Amino acid sequence: MTARILDGKAVAQMVRAEVRAGAEALAARDVRPGLVVVLVGEDPASQVYVRNKDKAAREAGFEVRTVRLAATARQAELEAEVRALNAVRAVHGILVPLPLPKGLDADRVVRLIDPAKDVDGLTPENVAALAMGRPGLRPCTPAGCIELCDRHAIALEGKDVVVVGRSMLVGKPFALLALERNATVTIAHSRTRDLAEHVRRADVVVAAVGRPALVKGDWIRPGAAVLDVGINRLADGRLVGDVDFETAKERAGWITPVPGGVGPMTIAMLLANTLQAAALQTGNSLPARTRSVASTS
Ligand code: NAD
Repeated sequence: MTARILDGKAVAQMVRAEVRAGAEALAARDVRPGLVVVLVGEDPASQVYVRNKDKAAREAGFEVRTVRLAATARQAELEAEVRALNAVRAVHGILVPLPLPKGLDADRVVRLIDPAKDVDGLTPENVAALAMGRPGLRPCTPAGCIELCDRHAIALEGKDVVVVGRSMLVGKPFALLALERNATVTIAHSRTRDLAEHVRRADVVVAAVGRPALVKGDWIRPGAAVLDVGINRLADGRLVGDVDFETAKERAGWITPVPGGVGPMTIAMLLANTLQAAALQTGNSLPARTRSVASTS
């Protein structure tokens, strides 16, 4: 068996086109979604990410701006910047790319962001909303994984879902989102005793660790859906995920490539969150996004 590809690029294009249409609808009501990125220091991964976000947000019709602070910026300076942005009405989304340079307390900064503008879905208010099943802004990467499943008609209800990794950014929120979809969820992590055994019985595997080929192909249950969130750069320059793609694709029913799987979805969901934040803050409603890849192919 060779797995079908969960095409993140194609789904991201679809989401981005819908977001653009939503932004046009808001523009007719004199609202332009506004996103500000507060970039501290010179982390190369963050720089690339910010450039891509910037371009995508402009293409969606958003007003986008990057505030750059030096790596030597003080905590108080960064906090003052976030507080000031919280108070600007035209700014609907605030993003502070992590990790922050040494000496800065990311937790304190995230807690300061107005939850209504928290387009990364990381403030305690939005984390609590997710845990309680209430409306709120959801973290972009796990929301992108759910969107990938939805658009390929991969139902999670009743399925055994194994999430490898328990970070606040990916693993934990994905587990909660899958639970919301009535999946039976296992979260594996660095202290899990027999990872292979857990993965072997999963209908859906989500790998979010940051270790190349941690998940072996022969662990994959035949027909399972495999979502590989990991991004690892090998010594020869290649980008790979956490799953051994070549062997896993021979057993899986569905699999995301790296690159071109979950990655493009993260930016698409950031745009969707910013649009949603802009609509909510201005008292507008948006149509639901419902098209699926499965129904068009
Ligand atoms: P993290 O370092 O915060 O968390 C890693 C998790 O992996 C931890 O919970 C840890 O318990 C677990 N872990 C470590 N070793 C393990 C092992 N041997 N077995 C099982 N679990 C183990 O990382 P993160 O922020 O969640 O990111 C994970 C990966 O996803 C990274 O490669 C990151 O670059 C990537 N990522 C990709 C996107 C995207 O858009 N595609 C977005 C965010 C993160």
